Amino acid sequence: MRQKSSKSHLSHQLLLGFGISLATVGLTTLGLNYFLIQSKLEKELEQRAQSITQGVGFSAEGLIELGNTSIIKRVVQNYATLPTVVEVAIVSPNRETLARSGSALRNPPYASIHPELTQVLEEASQTGLETSFRTTIDGKPALVAILPFSSTLFGLADRRGLAIAILDAEELQQQAWQTFSTSTFTLLIGMAAILALMTVMIQRVVLHPLQSLNKAVTDRNGLDHFIIPSGLPNNEIQFLAQTIQSAATCVETYQQELRQQAQDLEKAIQELQQAKEVAEAANRSKSTFLANMNHELRTPLNGILGYAQILQRDGATTTKQLKGLGVIQQCGSHLLTLINDILDLSKLEVQKMELYPEDFHLANFLACTVDICGVKAEQKSVEFHYQPAANLPIAVYADDKRLRQVLLNLLSNAVKFTDFGTVTFRVERVGEAPEPDAVQRIRFQIQDTGIGIAPEKLGKIFLPFEQAGNRDRNSEGTGLGLAISQQIIEKMGSTIQVESVLGQGSIFSFELDLIPAADWIVGQAIAQCLKGRIANQKVIGYQGDQRKILAIDDREENRLVVVNMLEPLGFQVAEAGDGQTGLDLAIQMRPDLIITDVCMSIMDGLEMTRRLRQFTDFATTPIIASSATLSQVDIQSSLDAGCSSFFPKPIEFTGLLAELQRLLNLQWIYETELEATQPTVSNADEVARIMVPPAAELAALYAAAQGGFITDIQQEANRLKQLSSEYTVFANRVLELSQQFDDEGILRLIEPQCPKPL
Ligand code: ADP
Repeated sequence: MRQKSSKSHLSHQLLLGFGISLATVGLTTLGLNYFLIQSKLEKELEQRAQSITQGVGFSAEGLIELGNTSIIKRVVQNYATLPTVVEVAIVSPNRETLARSGSALRNPPYASIHPELTQVLEEASQTGLETSFRTTIDGKPALVAILPFSSTLFGLADRRGLAIAILDAEELQQQAWQTFSTSTFTLLIGMAAILALMTVMIQRVVLHPLQSLNKAVTDRNGLDHFIIPSGLPNNEIQFLAQTIQSAATCVETYQQELRQQAQDLEKAIQELQQAKEVAEAANRSKSTFLANMNHELRTPLNGILGYAQILQRDGATTTKQLKGLGVIQQCGSHLLTLINDILDLSKLEVQKMELYPEDFHLANFLACTVDICGVKAEQKSVEFHYQPAANLPIAVYADDKRLRQVLLNLLSNAVKFTDFGTVTFRVERVGEAPEPDAVQRIRFQIQDTGIGIAPEKLGKIFLPFEQAGNRDRNSEGTGLGLAISQQIIEKMGSTIQVESVLGQGSIFSFELDLIPAADWIVGQAIAQCLKGRIANQKVIGYQGDQRKILAIDDREENRLVVVNMLEPLGFQVAEAGDGQTGLDLAIQMRPDLIITDVCMSIMDGLEMTRRLRQFTDFATTPIIASSATLSQVDIQSSLDAGCSSFFPKPIEFTGLLAELQRLLNLQWIYETELEATQPTVSNADEVARIMVPPAAELAALYAAAQGGFITDIQQEANRLKQLSSEYTVFANRVLELSQQFDDEGILRLIEPQCPKPL
């Protein structure tokens, strides 16, 4: 649309331009022409007037001298018949009219006939100069020519006779105007012809070729496949068409290149997407593989480590063999740490590691963590300073196990990479004192005066398998600790920061927003006390009537765990393989407590709970939901369905007992001192040989066992073994129990030497 209007503009503009310039030239020519015609006619009129005055003058002069004045009258009359002549007259020096055309009067003074000429006549008579001028006679434009002549007859020296001719100037103007009109008309016709000719020329030579060029472009919607239209004049337009064609060729080439590039790009994106999907699938399979391999690797490792320990305790083992077994055990333990770390990392990579926050006593938690590392620092003669701020919250809500894992990693790194000087652990609140229940930002900072980290390595230490120092020192680690710690802290909503100067030391720190646990003292403290007491003393039964427990789980091994945990304590345990059977069995046997799995095929645990709660008899029966999926959503939906509490799998024995005690209001019967000394291990001789290390050496082991940190327990046991050969049997027993994840057994073993917790 816009193109069309611009096209019509072009032709209009050209014609308008031509029209204006033609009109300007024409009008100027006309004006000039009019002026020239007029001045030419005026000149002609003047010449005519002069020739009349001269003719009349000469004739008058001769005739006066001859004394034949009557002929003068005829002469004058003759001249007066010439065209445009209004009047011819002869005036004597004394101003009398000797002859005047069209008049019979002979002697009246001429000035009385034409008073307006009086002055001019006087001057001409006196000066003797010929003159002609335009004036108005009787209200009409006229040209007056005066020729003075002398005649001796007049006898007047200073005054002359005058020959006067008056011509009609109006006629002159009419003639001029006629000529002008004719030439104007001719000019206009000429101009119109020129304009028409120009229009045709412009159309043919410029506009039509341009239009066909334009059509050639617009018909093809751009420059694609542009072909030069035929019949273009061989001039600039032809050149323009060729330029357009070469531009079109260029554009087409570029377009082809662009299309090719776009195709390449799309292909690359697709390949990248495929590669990403492959990588993600590979990553998922890697994680699944690692999770499976973790189990598969642990089993043979159990054999290796177990038999290394059995052989270490064998009296027939020689010192040389003992040394070799020590190496096997150390390598095995290292491998086990590596497996644990890799599993943690793979869980973090696929976002499967979840946090399980609970209320815990912050000061106890920190003291326990510090104990473990303090012992290591002491062994290396490195000063260890623990500086907790006084205004820390008493208890907080967080995942204590993961937080401990991070702190132990940072603290043990600090001790590991420091040979002289100090390791300082500061815990303080950041910012002003908030409201009592408000979130508090706590800063954890571990500073050491150790070997430090080179600036170029600082960015890499949080990457898996990156170790900054030399190989000797790194042989103890896996290079995974910081990668795992960083991801855990990121999950908690923060990041670990590091500042380090090579040769001077490092500062690792992070800040966490922790929610104070307000009702910790009332609720959780009781549960933790219960758990602590149960953990410290072996429960062998409970007081009162036998209690009936229904275990519902679609996996037999899970049911067996509950049965084997609880039956020896005197509970009557019934089993059901799905929710429906569980429901029927519950109605039939009326258990005192139900432990149910959540996800089951026929009827899940939540549906079973909902239905059971509809019976008034089961309105208050304690139902524990026990699941291996531990997301907050699962926990909440269990409680919403009517479960009394949620208990995670794998089931922790002491925790389960504490929960039973709480829900069934039980009084436990504990193993007496005497019974406790009765060896539970089969080999009584071995028990007799057990030499337990002093309390000071057992602090870290005790803390690790309390926290359930198997890797730390094993490290401590190995350390004790190296401390003295007397502790080998004790350490091996600890290692054996740790292989079975029996922290309870370990606690019982070391309890006589250790301070009571909490
Ligand atoms: P590792 O098991 O090797 O300790 P980490 O992931 O915990 O693995 O640490 C990675 C590397 O970062 C270490 O090998 C060490 O080179 C460096 N590093 C960590 N902490 C410190 C520290 N406090 N001082 C010096 N170097 C450190």
